[in-house]
Amino acid sequence: GATLGVLGGGQLGRMFAHAAQAMGYFTAVLDQDATSPAGLVSHHHVRTGYEDAQGLAELAQLCAAVTTEFENVPAGSLNKLAERLPVSPAGSAVAIAQDRAAEKAHFVKCGVPCAPYAVIETAEQLAAVNDALLPGILKTARMGYDGKGQIRVKTRDELVAGWNELGQVACVLEKMLPLAHECSVIVARGRDGTIVHLPVQRNLHRDGILAVTEVYEGNLPAAQAEQAVAAAKSVAIGLDYVGVLCVEFFVLENGQLVVNEIAPRPHNSGHYSQNALDMSQFELQVRCMTNLPLVQPRQHSATVMLNLLGDLWFKDGDTAQAPAWDQILALPGAHLHLYGKVDAKRARKMGHLNITAATAEQARATALKAAEILGIAAF
Ligand code: ATP
Ligand code: MG
Ligand code: MG
Repeated sequence: GATLGVLGGGQLGRMFAHAAQAMGYFTAVLDQDATSPAGLVSHHHVRTGYEDAQGLAELAQLCAAVTTEFENVPAGSLNKLAERLPVSPAGSAVAIAQDRAAEKAHFVKCGVPCAPYAVIETAEQLAAVNDALLPGILKTARMGYDGKGQIRVKTRDELVAGWNELGQVACVLEKMLPLAHECSVIVARGRDGTIVHLPVQRNLHRDGILAVTEVYEGNLPAAQAEQAVAAAKSVAIGLDYVGVLCVEFFVLENGQLVVNEIAPRPHNSGHYSQNALDMSQFELQVRCMTNLPLVQPRQHSATVMLNLLGDLWFKDGDTAQAPAWDQILALPGAHLHLYGKVDAKRARKMGHLNITAATAEQARATALKAAEILGIAAF
């Protein structure tokens, strides 16, 4: 079999490797960490940084095609690999997703509404910010994830202090919007322009981190769901995107749909696809990169996904101890996914639990039961 490569060794790379291997491929991971979740389950593990010319050359030598699981991989490295083998998504698309200012400009270009914002790269731009953007969230333009690199600011003084605290790096200030809820859409687009999508995910974030995803008939009003799918597709088409892309949205209290951000890879909110759809987001990633047919996934079960954060490992004190899974696995429709991370830390994503059932009511009831057992707040 051919070998497929992935830049980044986290859990997304691990689940990509599992999907690729199930389809007969060998996998190669480029990640510096000797115990990276994806490196541990792959046939080849190139242990260099993302910009290491020798590491990239070695990966290119091993692989028939390459993808990424980490959105902050230098776009230049993807471009370099693309001189030698098919790379999806392209460096040009990833570069836009890596920079909140470029990302928002792309949304504007696609005619998809996003939160009112201002780019702040200089003290002059900071001083010129319109008061209408306050209260707001100041976000570093680059490298933020799981709510990191973000400061909520109510006043101009807090804005100035926040920008100083973030090191006066390039930022965007977004107006704080009144959210009714959040949702996301995952699309997969092939080289020939074929595009398929997963059912719309309804997401609950806690402390800036995804906590719960619910996917079943009626999780969102049908018109909102359709609008989100259409917007996600136009964002992907506008990027001439090849691969799996997640588009995150806010639904405002007045029902308006506003795009938040994109992730140029499979996404945490799409993990339910492993057990509730007949094709996972990771298989779609494999199909995109190998030019295999893209077919529309079909949902066969209602589902709720619970993220398993490292906090659950510290319920009984400061020594990490995995929750007792037997009570969870005794629940009907419980699918436990653990990432094989060697050390648990609070707020670190350690795994997820997909609950599937015949109906939304059953899926929710079982998921609430699991949450209670684990000590996760009800939703
Ligand atoms: P991810 O891990 O999804 O990449 P991130 O660090 O890029 O997260 P965002 O998606 O920008 O963070 O924001 C995290 C969460 O903070 C959002 O899901 C939402 O709950 C809240 N949030 C962000 N921006 C706004 C806004 N303008 N108005 C209201 N809430 C917001
Ligand atoms: Mg993000
Ligand atoms: Mg986000």
